[in-house]
Amino acid sequence: MALLQISEPGMSTAPHQRQLAAGIDLGTTNSLIATVRSGQAETLSDLNGQHLLPSVIHYHADKAPVVGHDAYQYMANDSENTLSSVKRLLGRGKNDLKTLLGTLPYVFADTDSMVPRIKTVAGEVSAIEASAEILRVLKQRAEAILGDELSGVVITVPAYFDEAQRQATRDAAKLADLNVFRLLNEPTAAAVAYGLDKKEEGVIAVYDLGGGTFDISILRLNKGVFEVLATGGNSALGGDDFDHVIAEWVLAQAGLTHTDDKDLLRQLSVAARIAKEALSDSAEATLSLGNWQGVLDQATFQQLVEPLVKKTLKSCRRALRDAEISKNEIMDVVMVGGSTRMPYVRRRVGEFFERPPLIDIDPDRVVALGAAYQADVLAGNKPDGEMLLLDVIPLSLGIEMMGGLVEKVISRNTTIPVARAQEFTTYKDGQTAMSIHILQGERDTVETNRSLGKFILRGIPPLSAGVARIKVTFQVDADGLLNVSAEEASTGIKAQIEIKPSYGLTDNEIETMLRESMENAQGDMELRRLREVQVEADRVLEALDAAMQTDADALLDNIEKECLLEARQRLLEARQQDNHDVITNAMKALEKTAEFYVERRMNLSIKTAMSGHNVDEF
Ligand code: ADP
Ligand code: MG
Repeated sequence: MALLQISEPGMSTAPHQRQLAAGIDLGTTNSLIATVRSGQAETLSDLNGQHLLPSVIHYHADKAPVVGHDAYQYMANDSENTLSSVKRLLGRGKNDLKTLLGTLPYVFADTDSMVPRIKTVAGEVSAIEASAEILRVLKQRAEAILGDELSGVVITVPAYFDEAQRQATRDAAKLADLNVFRLLNEPTAAAVAYGLDKKEEGVIAVYDLGGGTFDISILRLNKGVFEVLATGGNSALGGDDFDHVIAEWVLAQAGLTHTDDKDLLRQLSVAARIAKEALSDSAEATLSLGNWQGVLDQATFQQLVEPLVKKTLKSCRRALRDAEISKNEIMDVVMVGGSTRMPYVRRRVGEFFERPPLIDIDPDRVVALGAAYQADVLAGNKPDGEMLLLDVIPLSLGIEMMGGLVEKVISRNTTIPVARAQEFTTYKDGQTAMSIHILQGERDTVETNRSLGKFILRGIPPLSAGVARIKVTFQVDADGLLNVSAEEASTGIKAQIEIKPSYGLTDNEIETMLRESMENAQGDMELRRLREVQVEADRVLEALDAAMQTDADALLDNIEKECLLEARQRLLEARQQDNHDVITNAMKALEKTAEFYVERRMNLSIKTAMSGHNVDEF
């Protein structure tokens, strides 16, 4: 999804009515809340001065769940009741669980509900409810510090989150009693924090290495529009894996490679993380295990983590290829996530993109800070004319026409909210109903687009084909919700449908659809020409049949009739062949043969018209 800046007049309020707003980074490992004060975004800390809230929830049998640092300590000895990384489950159905199950220590409940529920001592909870606990703590923190209720928040989500995952995030916010102004893509938020949205144009790479995930996003900024060109990464590669290779090294050094002492391994992984983080500031770190004690220096560390760093760069290369962007077209590289504090990671990323990455803003906080700037604008705290980021629709929206063709009503990358209307007409004489089939995609035919929904407009007055005027309006609101309505002009009868246009479509699927549309553009154009001439042939055949039924006996002799029927038969046969020229020729031949008949009908119709009747001309 991409974003566009516009000014939204009338949204601003007087300075003394300043609305409290916040940006929230709801992370897999850590979550944060930030707000803008005196024009500057800052993250808000807890009473101990901690800004990061570990995304960990510990459930108790007889009291409210504990979130954050205090929940952390239960990860080891009460893992079933201590939920972490619930973001991985957000918006996921039971079917998605199979691939995730092995990685999660929880006991899932056997329910009929599509949403998986985890068994805890406090009852069954879903990822949405668990996320709501995190959001609730952040909300309380902000309101305690700011001294009033938040008017609304911007919550960030990964660029690849699909509609279900985004909806689940919104649901969690609703449970936490938060008003969500908007969800914002994490890489876009990071770019906003660096003020890159103020630049005219350019391509930006956002390298996000967190605790358990790696995401690379390639964004194009053009006159205030952020468009996601490609996303990539690895949902099972992050800081934890760096800890793991250090732990393995320690075990090997201590001669303990075959231990299965769980407590020992857990302690070791904590020690490994501490050593890794220390190595971001110091030349070496000391580690011990039982009687063994050793020193991990930078050279050894770099050698250990090299395969992991290489993997991230491979994803970067692939994302660039998907985006059809070469390295030297990248204007800025933004570093996000705690793991980009590692100097070695920074160096390798800089070498890869051939330019120093942006590291001035704390990589833990950069996403929350960008979201806070956005929330501040959306709350109306900026003077008139201040820029506001808006989404654009990722794929074109259109409706099905005769012959299985798609007519685009709103084209891709149009800023939302948007409303577009187009007039359509009936295809047959006396047609009283019209089926409106809504499609999403870039290609020309129904089969190659994604069907979003259908509805029928009934009660159209029975007029000749092409006379009725049906206005079809597509309206997409700021959240991407599509409403399609159809209205017949003379009677005002109306029908409508509401759809989520990107429901279930991942960015990858969107990309695939776009790529296919480009690859097939030539073929599609030919197919469109063929379908159009087939529709035209059908129309001619139907009109001829209707005319002959009314007055052939009166206006034609037997030989003339036979001639016409033969030409008709030839067109009918040609129609079956998928060849544009064959159909066109047969149609021309029929039109030629029918010329005298059309002439006679016109004379007749003039006569009837003069005597007060009206007959449709052929
Ligand atoms: P997420 O986006 O998954 O919530 P974060 O962006 O908060 O995760 O990153 C957490 C990871 O960052 C952890 O693996 C942590 O060890 C790592 N990290 C934090 N500080 C440092 C540091 N100074 N050096 C190296 N790694 C760090
Ligand atoms: Mg993160």
